[in-house]
Amino acid sequence: MKAVSLETYEIVIGLEVHTELLTNTKMFCGCANQPGAAPNSNVCPVCLGLPGSLPVINQRAVELTALTGLALNCSIEEFTRFDRKNYFYPDLMKGYQISQYQYPIARNGWIEIEHDGQRQRVGIRRVHLEEDTAKLTHRIDPATGRPYSLVDVNRAGVPLIEIVSEPDIHSAEQARLYLMELRSILQYLGVSTGNMEEGAFRCDANVSVRPIGSAELGVKVEVKNMNSFRAVFRALEYEAERQLAAIDRGESVTQETRGWSEDRGITVSQRTKEYAEDYRYFPEPDLPPLALTPQWTARIRMQLPELPSARRRRFVDQYGLSPYDAELLTASRATADYFEETVRLFDRPKTVANWMTGELFRLLNASGLGIESSKVSPPGLASLLKLIDEGTISIRAAKDVFERMFQTGESANQVVEALGLRQISDAAALEHLVDQAIASNPKSVEDYRAGKVQALGFLVGQVMKASRGKANPAVVNSLLRARLDAQQRD
Ligand code: ADP
Ligand code: ZN
Ligand code: MG
Repeated sequence: MKAVSLETYEIVIGLEVHTELLTNTKMFCGCANQPGAAPNSNVCPVCLGLPGSLPVINQRAVELTALTGLALNCSIEEFTRFDRKNYFYPDLMKGYQISQYQYPIARNGWIEIEHDGQRQRVGIRRVHLEEDTAKLTHRIDPATGRPYSLVDVNRAGVPLIEIVSEPDIHSAEQARLYLMELRSILQYLGVSTGNMEEGAFRCDANVSVRPIGSAELGVKVEVKNMNSFRAVFRALEYEAERQLAAIDRGESVTQETRGWSEDRGITVSQRTKEYAEDYRYFPEPDLPPLALTPQWTARIRMQLPELPSARRRRFVDQYGLSPYDAELLTASRATADYFEETVRLFDRPKTVANWMTGELFRLLNASGLGIESSKVSPPGLASLLKLIDEGTISIRAAKDVFERMFQTGESANQVVEALGLRQISDAAALEHLVDQAIASNPKSVEDYRAGKVQALGFLVGQVMKASRGKANPAVVNSLLRARLDAQQRD
């Protein structure tokens, strides 16, 4: 029997997110901030940490950090400063990282998440600005079997912000929702790509458990090395379970840092408190403190775009979408823009939503593309929907047309012509097919006259088949009725 369970214990999680900023240049030098460039091509004495070089603060990075703070409902500090965080590691060119310790740019905010139909706020403790480290790639020499590491200094000095939550999260699922919402906000702001696989958005998690009702926090374990949302979710589920099991055995949780092992699906101890680093923080002597005046902050606030939560609500109110569709269509700014542009050209929001969440998302998923690179543009989708609306093509045919538009980039009209899919709605062109169907199915005609309405459906099907799907079913239906009812009166 298990004494310790989620009925008597609760999970407590606080998340630390690092995200690279989308600036043109690095944090303290003029080198390009260009992920994907050839290794060590964007380097200079400052980001290489050569003695005698001096850093200069990137103003845009400070603005983007404040913008992020405001979007996360934080207050922007009037006094802010950089500090040196000293440690020794091959990815750190100078032997210290310029970061912020006592005086971060933003503090005391929150993000709202919705879980099981309940809205909940997760506190944001602080948002601070720092520089990224160089990127290490670990390899094994195939000849000797010896491990070695490659250093790419391009990433050293790229502006990085750290967003630290309060320990307000109580399950892996809530953590996932928090991260999704945070990433979406960063993308709406244009602050970060939010790409976790490429390392532009990274998350460390602090996890503890405590008896429900206890006022004190339990001993926390810091979990690192999670490279996807799924990894964060799995690692948190595992780690909480591991701690509960330890307590259940009468052991206590040790304060330590553990690494998530994706292959094994477990967390592994990396270092304990005894070996925790002492970073010897002190004020960065080569940079001035910054005074962020309320006037300056007010100007930044004016740059805030409509954020995901507001846009989600507006999609429900203005377009009558379900909360679920609104959520899917606002998850990224590009998707929400695509939707609104299409609706401007074809004013049936529900239809547009169905086509986007159905066909478009299906094809994007299958091809691994983002909506930005879709060959079907909003005007393309709108013109296809008009063709359906006018009865030029059937809905069935429209799905094939859409798929080909998506693959080739042709317009709806081009595909309809090329595939010969134009629907036949002209009664004169359909009459002989209707007569044929009646003549060759006397049994169905009899059934229909005897009051079996389903027989009509069968006859419509025969005409559709004979027209190879091109007949407009509504027109066929009324032609058949007219013909059969007239014959009956004779
Ligand atoms: P440290 O000094 O180890 O960096 P902080 O107090 O600065 O710890 O908190 C870092 C992160 O850990 C924050 O996101 C915070 O919410 C979270 N945290 C702090 N204590 C706990 C705890 N007992 N359980 C879970 N998360 C915690
Ligand atoms: Zn540089
Ligand atoms: Mg800390």
